[in-house]
Amino acid sequence: MFAIVQTGDPILRKKAKEVPEKEIKGSKIVAILERMKKALDLEEDGVAIAAPQIGVSLRIFLVSERTFDLPEDVSERRKQKKDRSKKYGHLVFINPVITKTSKEKALLEEGCLSVRYKYGKIERATKSTVTAFDEHGKKFTRGASGLMAQIFQHETDHLNGVLFTDKATNVQDIPPKESIKDV
Ligand code: ZN
Repeated sequence: MFAIVQTGDPILRKKAKEVPEKEIKGSKIVAILERMKKALDLEEDGVAIAAPQIGVSLRIFLVSERTFDLPEDVSERRKQKKDRSKKYGHLVFINPVITKTSKEKALLEEGCLSVRYKYGKIERATKSTVTAFDEHGKKFTRGASGLMAQIFQHETDHLNGVLFTDKATNVQDIPPKESIKDV
C-alpha cells in the first residue's frame, strides 16, 4: 500500500526541489509527511526516509525516534526485532542543508529501503550538522554523531539523487532470514 520506491525508478536520481517556506504548514506537505511516516513505520528495519522514496521529489526527510534505541552497528540493528508495541515519533527535516561535517571519517556499513537487502561499506563523516525547517516551519540546527550523523548524510544524498551504492564498496545481498510481512 505504501510501497517504497526501488532503485531503477528515475525519481530517485532527480535532484529534489525545495519546499517553498510558506507551504511548509500547508495541507499538501502535512499529507506528504503523513505518507512518509506510514511508509517508514511499515518497514521492519527502517530508521529514516526521504520524500523521493515515496515518489515525491521534494527536499524532506524524516528520522524515526526509534533511532535513539538502536545499536550503532547495522549488522546488530538487523538482528533487533522491531517492538511494535512501542510508538515512536519522528524528527522532520524540511529543506535540510548539511552545514558542517567532521574531518574524521569512518567506514560504516549501510543499507537503504530503496536498494532492498543490499549492504555495503561507505565512508561517512563521524559527525555532521544539519540546518532545516521542522513541520511547524521553525528553522533549527541539529548536530549529531554516530548513526544520526550517518543518517543525515544518507538522506541528504537521496535529495541530490545519490544512492549509497554509488559510493559503497563490498556491496552484498543480505536478505532477511525470515520474511516479515505486515502488509
Ligand atoms: Zn536510503
